[in-house]
Amino acid sequence: MNEYDSNRILDLTKKINYTLTINIKDSDCYVLNTCHIREKATDKVYHEVGRVKKEFRYKKKPIVLIVGCVAQAEGEVLLKKEKYIDAVVGPQSYHQINKIILDIENKNTKINSTEFEVIEKFDQLNLVKNSNSKISSFLTIQEGCDKFCKFCVVPYTRGPEYSRSYPEIISEAKQLVDNGSQEIILLGQNVNAYNFKNKRLSDLLYSLSEIKNLERIRYTTSHPKDFTDDLIEAHGECKKLMPLLHLPVQSGSTKILHNMNRNHTIEEYLEIIDKLKEKKSSIKFSSDFIIAYPGETNDDFEKTVSLMKQVDFINSYSFIFSARPGTPAANLKKIDEKIAKERLTIFQRVADEIKKKYRNKLVNSITNVLFENNARSTDKYFGRDEYFNSVIVNSNENLAGKIRNVKIDSCNQNTLFGKVILESKPNEYAA
Ligand code: SF4
Repeated sequence: MNEYDSNRILDLTKKINYTLTINIKDSDCYVLNTCHIREKATDKVYHEVGRVKKEFRYKKKPIVLIVGCVAQAEGEVLLKKEKYIDAVVGPQSYHQINKIILDIENKNTKINSTEFEVIEKFDQLNLVKNSNSKISSFLTIQEGCDKFCKFCVVPYTRGPEYSRSYPEIISEAKQLVDNGSQEIILLGQNVNAYNFKNKRLSDLLYSLSEIKNLERIRYTTSHPKDFTDDLIEAHGECKKLMPLLHLPVQSGSTKILHNMNRNHTIEEYLEIIDKLKEKKSSIKFSSDFIIAYPGETNDDFEKTVSLMKQVDFINSYSFIFSARPGTPAANLKKIDEKIAKERLTIFQRVADEIKKKYRNKLVNSITNVLFENNARSTDKYFGRDEYFNSVIVNSNENLAGKIRNVKIDSCNQNTLFGKVILESKPNEYAA
C-alpha cells in the first residue's frame, strides 16, 4: 500500500511543480513513506533522516517530510526529537501534502498532520490522474481496520474501515490500463471487507474483468471473517482472477486465534479453503503466521505446523511475536526467547520443504507468464506466473508487457528459470 501511496504523493506534488529525482542529492523535498508493521520502524526513520543530513551537510537543507504509519504513530515525538524533520503526515492526510510543502516553503513552519480524514483524502485523490504505468499496478480500494487483533497497530495508524467509491475505482483501473497496466492488484488492509453502497469485492472483480486489455486481477489482504460465499463464487467465475489467494491465518490453534481476537476458528478457516477448492480446483494458498504468541503451548504450536502441512501453503511469511507499543498484546507475558526461536526454526523448515517440493514439481511444466521488465542484463526478462512466482527467461524479443508460455528448466528458492515456448499451456500445472 505504501508503494501505491508513494506514487499518488508523486502525482499530487506534480501539481506544484515537483518531480521525481533518482539522486537524493538533487532533492529539494525529501519524502520518507514509512511502515510501522515491522520492529524498530521508528529507529529506521531516525537512521534514514541521519543519512539525508549527512548528504546535505554542506548544502541547503531539503524539506523533510515523514509520511505514513510511523508518522501517524509517533507524530509530535518525531518533530521534537529530530529538528531536521519539517512535517509528519499520517496516511490519511497525505492529500494535504501540497499545502504542507508550500507552508513550509513560505512560512518555514513545523507541521503535524495526523488526522483521520480518509473520505477527504480519496475525494482529493480522485481529482488527480493516476500516472503509474507499470505492467502490474496496485490500486487501493479499501483502507483501515475495525478488527482490532490484539497484536496489530493498523487500526490505530490507518483508522477505521473505509471503502472507496465503486465508480472511482473502476475509473482509476481504466486509467491504469490506458497507461499500460495489464495486471491490477487491489489493495486494502481488509480488502474483502469492501462495501460501497452494498457493492462488494466480488462485484468489483466482475466489473474489472470486463475492462479490455486488463489481463490479470489479484487482491490482498483478506480476512477469513469477511470471506463471504459471493467472493468464493467469484473465484470460480472470474477468469482474470489469478488462482493464488493470500489468506492470513496467524495460528493453527483456535485457542490462540481467540486470544488474538481473530474472531474465527480453524474449522471455519478450513471450510473457506475447501469451498474455494470446490469452485476452483487449481487454487493455491499463501499465509502469514505469528509464532510463539503469548500463551502458545507446544500443543498450539504443533497445530500450526499441522495446518501448514494440511493446506500445503506454497508461500508463507512467519515471524516470532514481537510486541507493538500501544497494542493490547504488548502487555502480555512473552514466551521464552529460546523456545520461540526453536519453534520458528521448526516451522520454517516445514514451510521451506513444502515450498521446495512445490517448486521442484514445476520443473518441466509449462507456465503462463506476464513479463514486466528486463532483469539486469538486456536479454533477460522478469515476469510472474499465475501463482505470482518470479520467472526469468533469456530472450532476444522484448518481452515487457507480453504474456507467454514458459517451459520451466530449473528453480531456486525464489525464482523459476525457463524458456519461452510456442506450444500452449495445459489447463492446470503438472503439480
Ligand atoms: S485484521 Fe489485519 S489489519 Fe486488522 S487488526 Fe487484524 S491483523 Fe491488523
